[in-house]
Amino acid sequence: MADPTILAASHMLDVTAGTWLTDRRLVIREDGRIESVLRAEDAAPTNARIVDVPDGWLIPGLVDCHSHLIGDPEDAAIPAIVSSPAHDVLAGVRHARATLAAGFTSVRDVGTFRAFADVVLRDAIEAGATPGPRMQCAGAYVTAPGGGGDITGLPDGTEIPADLQFAVVRTTADVRDRVARLIDGGATLVKVIVTGAVLTRGTTPGAVELGQAMIAAAVDEATRRGVFVAAHAHGAEGIKIAIRAGVRSIEHGSLIDDEGIDLLVRSGTWLVADVYDGDWIAQEGARAGWPAETMAKNELTTEAQRSGFTRAVAAGARIAFGTDSGVYPHGMNAIQFGYQVRLGQTPLAAIRSATTEAARLMGWEDRIGALEPGRYADAVVLPADPLSDVEVLRTPRAVVKSGLRVS
Ligand SMILES: [Zn+2]
Repeated sequence: MADPTILAASHMLDVTAGTWLTDRRLVIREDGRIESVLRAEDAAPTNARIVDVPDGWLIPGLVDCHSHLIGDPEDAAIPAIVSSPAHDVLAGVRHARATLAAGFTSVRDVGTFRAFADVVLRDAIEAGATPGPRMQCAGAYVTAPGGGGDITGLPDGTEIPADLQFAVVRTTADVRDRVARLIDGGATLVKVIVTGAVLTRGTTPGAVELGQAMIAAAVDEATRRGVFVAAHAHGAEGIKIAIRAGVRSIEHGSLIDDEGIDLLVRSGTWLVADVYDGDWIAQEGARAGWPAETMAKNELTTEAQRSGFTRAVAAGARIAFGTDSGVYPHGMNAIQFGYQVRLGQTPLAAIRSATTEAARLMGWEDRIGALEPGRYADAVVLPADPLSDVEVLRTPRAVVKSGLRVS
């Protein structure tokens, strides 16, 4: 038996109770999971290795439930077709490192145009070959031809490599076939593109692209294999049919109406709303001269989404933290906490959206989301109390994953 590891903190957040515990020591097993949480008066193992981190406010490792680690940050100008699989994965390596350093020790990676590039990255991280967050990954987008997850905007007749259109579907039989093949190929999440997208040219955020029967087929195939379905849905109608089809989460939810919020609450479906990145698109798009179509769609969805988020929070909907990282540069993820607080969440609720709620959404309550025995010793040391000021989440002093300091 290897010696245990100890991570000490003068302040440790009990995120479930919403209280700070003082002078705690986490005893960590060789497998990186927490064995016990000791109080000051408890005897600690004498042979323990101490994790060398500065003192501060210790919280569970954060989770971004809507990341895109693979490929270059979207700039709406360079289509994925001019890239290569090797380039896309290598970019993912950099993004994974930046995400981890920002305190995000887990992500739910909701898609890549390049099929299975995310699985390659996930496996490399799990093997210890490159640093990065724990990942659930989607393998590819399940999307209609010309839809929000397809490669669009190219001249007619352009030849598109098959791995960029792996899960473009026309029928429910296609949906069942691709979902099965995605999961067989290593995906641990299914991402269906129900409506058009802001950044995908020629698509309309309010328009339904995949009908309820197609979504239900994806849910059925995924559920049978123990995998959840995340639904990209901006438009009010798309949101409702996705909830009725049984998806685990609504991604974006920009144009949600009151009936949709009511359905969210009654079904217990999570809302994962990227309420920050509209500001990034507005600023960066103006600077870099992004297409007018993209800028108009961003304007249509940004404030509407924030209003819907506020109403969903007030109604008691389940909220999980997801930022659409990749639209903006990876590593800035924690900027969204301040937005969620300004839009109606308490700092504790915002932190729970990226810890306990994120873990529940992913079905990972047994491994992440809280500093409790049995879960991984994934933690972030902050310079001050984030319950007083969530902006301190943007400047972690140290990041620990599986009981090892990684930043
Ligand atoms: Zn996204």
